[in-house]
Amino acid sequence: MADLSKFTKELSNLFSTSDNIVLISHINPDGDAIGSQLALYHFLKSQGKEAGMITPNYLQEFLKWMNGADLIEVYIRDRKKCRKLIEEADLIVLLDFNHSNRLGEAEEYVKSSRARKVLIDHHLDAEDFTDLIISDTTRCSTAELVHELLCNIKDVRPFIGNAYAEAVYVGIITDTGNFEHGSYSSNTLRIVADLLECGIQKERILDLLYNNFSADRLRLQGFALNQRMVVLPEYKSAYIYLTREDLKSHSHVKGDTEGFVNMPLSIKGIYFATIFIEKDGFIKLSFRSKGQFPSNEFASLYFAGGGHLNASGGEYYDTLQNTIDYFLKVLKENFWRFEKTV
Ligand code: 5GP
Ligand code: MN
Repeated sequence: MADLSKFTKELSNLFSTSDNIVLISHINPDGDAIGSQLALYHFLKSQGKEAGMITPNYLQEFLKWMNGADLIEVYIRDRKKCRKLIEEADLIVLLDFNHSNRLGEAEEYVKSSRARKVLIDHHLDAEDFTDLIISDTTRCSTAELVHELLCNIKDVRPFIGNAYAEAVYVGIITDTGNFEHGSYSSNTLRIVADLLECGIQKERILDLLYNNFSADRLRLQGFALNQRMVVLPEYKSAYIYLTREDLKSHSHVKGDTEGFVNMPLSIKGIYFATIFIEKDGFIKLSFRSKGQFPSNEFASLYFAGGGHLNASGGEYYDTLQNTIDYFLKVLKENFWRFEKTV
């Protein structure tokens, strides 16, 4: 784990000398993006600092209940207001991503802003486009990293409140798949113990995060497994594909396919899972792997993407069938890596 104490003074100074702080998380924000953003927001508020918050595009339904989520400006909903926030900022904190293209339409405005910029993240291979990069790839979530940094600035107890604790908890829970992925550490669990001692209602949070779907979504999940999953035991892999028509006929809303990519990994002998989702003019891919197979390398080499070792994603601008054909070709070429890693 990286030594974070060296950032304490710098970060603390940046906060105390800035009057217009703006917190920005990534496009298609997940629970960790919003969790770390809101945690930092509630911390700053407890210190008497107001901060603006922006996401490049809309939050999914399952995150909208979070305390402060309604204060987040969505760039594509109100471009003028968001540009003004960015222009007037003297400090911009970027959370849970490390490539500027994850800012969507806000990218050019953030890049050209005169504000001091800090990136706080836990993904590999950070792009160097900010004044300060605080990156620790050994952390399960940006929320854990934010929490550690803030504890170094100020003893956690005085500012820890329900809204803050819930935000950190949501980041940790969603990025570890409710402690299913191996990315969490003993340190994570110590933090969770502190959060529980703060009185967060973990059952309520889990219910709000995970039992928040439509019947159509559950039917889509069944359909995906029954009709759209292809298992390739000889390549220790499986994939699921969903066409636009499949989504439409199941009254799909944003977030409905979240987590589907994990399902094939529960098959014995399957170490690499992919989902192809047909979008307007391109295919969105998500990858999950077990063991040391570098799904992020696969994503960045062949699908202009990236992410973590075991969870990554990318895009391909072609038809669904051509994308699957290309995927099968590069999978076969990379199969030797499995033999080494699993
Ligand atoms: P998900 O499959 O849940 O959408 O994304 C899993 C991880 O992969 C995320 O942590 C995210 O950082 C990364 N990821 C997903 N899609 C992309 C992409 O198109 N480009 C990059 N660089 N990373 C991605
Ligand atoms: Mn994250």
